[in-house]
Amino acid sequence: MKTSFILSASESIRDAILDHESELESLDRAIGDGDHYINMKRGANTIVEIRAELESLTPDAALNKIGMKLLSTIGGASGPLLASFFMSMGKILKENADDSVPSYAAAFVAGVEAIQQRGKAGLGEKTMLDVLIPVAQQFSTLATSNTNIKDICTALMHTAEQGMLSTKALIATKGRAAGLGERAIGHIDPGAKSCQLMIEAVCKQVLLIQN
Ligand code: ADP
Ligand code: MG
Repeated sequence: MKTSFILSASESIRDAILDHESELESLDRAIGDGDHYINMKRGANTIVEIRAELESLTPDAALNKIGMKLLSTIGGASGPLLASFFMSMGKILKENADDSVPSYAAAFVAGVEAIQQRGKAGLGEKTMLDVLIPVAQQFSTLATSNTNIKDICTALMHTAEQGMLSTKALIATKGRAAGLGERAIGHIDPGAKSCQLMIEAVCKQVLLIQN
């Protein structure tokens, strides 16, 4: 992975977030405080704005910088969680600097574990982790099974979508929605939706450069 890929993926993420303004806003209005879209937009715009600064960095350093920047720009619960994801990814990529799919999978897994540790949450709690944990598990399995990158991306996008949809039926036990009890049922978790959008944006970017 080159830093130029991180830059183009960041732009795709920003576009995906901006394209889903009303959906992200209404999901967080339904079971949170309504600021999730604003938080994600601020974070995504900030990363695109520091493009020149990121361009000169190695991929691991760029991911670390992205994490630090998100920590200082995104408010709410999602800011520190996503920040720890990118910083952990950067740390693992620095250790395994072999530019291989298993290394990216290991970095993604470490990023998701960092979110779990920071947020003290797991699967089935109606959070972004209901997308991230299944995607991390599948990425890890497929990366070591000789599956080609196109099939990996297609599978991960599908799993992210399923994870996002699975949050609809759940009661929240973490985050703001935890106070709502059964009233949270019937609504997709906003953080799960934005993570699904980000995974889809990055996978589509990978598919684009493979063609
Ligand atoms: P806030 O909840 O502070 O308003 P956001 O609206 O930006 O922050 O983000 C809300 C999202 O953060 C939720 O939809 C959920 O996916 C995620 N989230 C909240 N708490 C946790 C946690 N402990 N672990 C993982 N994700 C969490
Ligand atoms: Mg919110």
